[in-house]
Amino acid sequence: MASEKRVDLDGNPIKPITICMIGAGGFIGSHLCEKLMAETPHKVLALDVYNDKIKHLLEPDSLPWADRIQFHRLNIKNDSRLESLIRMADLTINLAAICTPADYNTRPLDTIYSNFIDAIPVVKYCSGNNKRLIHFSTCEVYGKTIGSFLPKDSPLRQDPAYFVLSENLSPCIFGPIEKQRWSYACAKQLIERLIYAEGAENGMDFTIVRPFNWIGPRMDFIPGIDGPSEGVPRVLACFSNNLLRHEPLKLVDGGQSQRTFIYIKDAIEAVLLMIENPARANGQIFNVGNPNNEVTVKQLAEMMTEVYAKVSGEPSLEKPTIDISSEEFYGVGYDDSDKRIPDMTIINKQLGWNPKTSLWDLLESTLTYQHRTYAEAIKQATAKPAAT
Ligand code: NAD
Ligand code: UDP
Repeated sequence: MASEKRVDLDGNPIKPITICMIGAGGFIGSHLCEKLMAETPHKVLALDVYNDKIKHLLEPDSLPWADRIQFHRLNIKNDSRLESLIRMADLTINLAAICTPADYNTRPLDTIYSNFIDAIPVVKYCSGNNKRLIHFSTCEVYGKTIGSFLPKDSPLRQDPAYFVLSENLSPCIFGPIEKQRWSYACAKQLIERLIYAEGAENGMDFTIVRPFNWIGPRMDFIPGIDGPSEGVPRVLACFSNNLLRHEPLKLVDGGQSQRTFIYIKDAIEAVLLMIENPARANGQIFNVGNPNNEVTVKQLAEMMTEVYAKVSGEPSLEKPTIDISSEEFYGVGYDDSDKRIPDMTIINKQLGWNPKTSLWDLLESTLTYQHRTYAEAIKQATAKPAAT
């Protein structure tokens, strides 16, 4: 654990606080809890319906941080303990959400309730009890880039003004209502507006985080191993699953969409700076991403194939990818963000933070983890029963 001498970015000593972390049992929550336990003196009230991804932090009782983390199994939709847990804490971090694209068009009601309606009481309890809130939104609130509406051969498409996404400048551009993909982005946008209004009208201290494709160990699930066989997780887990099963990676609509990927451990550094520097983080919306790690989804598939061959020692397939239509893969109502380059000006100025890890390096450590964690289980699950 860190010494008492830890100071914030302005040289002031950092006092230990209690954090109510909602959705602590998920991908980001598990890494944030790990960081807080290993490197800070803060206490965490960890709220979630699951705790599999933080079990290693909760047991055994002899862990050095055992008295600083408490798990509360609850669903924020319907649990009267929520307000008292928020009241017991100095800061609430809300990570709870349905946030896998396969759900946005197939379960739009659950998506909207989870990302907007269920988050309202959290905002209200923070505002009503004068508590600080760090709320996790998404880069998807930007939707499509302005450049995507220009003719394909327009030179303006190369101009950053038409594609770089800036917190306080860029518009939010979503597709039509029948493209239910945008139910998530729209719900996240509305909760951002509600939080911003609580800040403006009632003086609530808040920070909004817009993650740009954070990836790493413990992200989502491997279908049929630690999640439903028919489930469709986000791209890292989809491609990992294909690689582990020696199947071609599926490129939705040819894999031409572009993304910037950031290593979860880099991103968590940014969140810790927000937690410990409230004077610099309050009232801000922060992009958190790595603009240097841009690839098309097709390039991501090719790089993952190469990295997986290296870490597993298994040769790649002769034809490592196949194309699939978005309708076949996700169903009716899917649509896509074309390109996501985060403007880093605000987070750089307020918190002096920059991402460090290259795409190759983050894939190497993540796929080493995936291989070590899942290869044997997949071998057993797919082994044919021996003939009798
Ligand atoms: P995740 O699905 O791994 O974690 C979310 C956690 O919230 C899960 O453990 C889930 O059980 C919990 N949860 C959901 N509804 C709940 C409820 N009603 N009551 C209690 N717990 C509930 O997702 P993640 O990747 O860790 O994302 C966390 C947040 O960051 C989400 O708000 C998501 O929209 C946002 N985000 C993440 C990324 C990314 O790159 N990982 C990108 C954009 C936005
Ligand atoms: N994708 C893909 N094959 C897959 C899974 C996803 O081509 O097996 C694409 C998806 O269509 C999108 C990108 O990968 O263009 C990123 O998808 P993800 O689910 O990670 O979330 P998003 O970045 O869209 O929020």
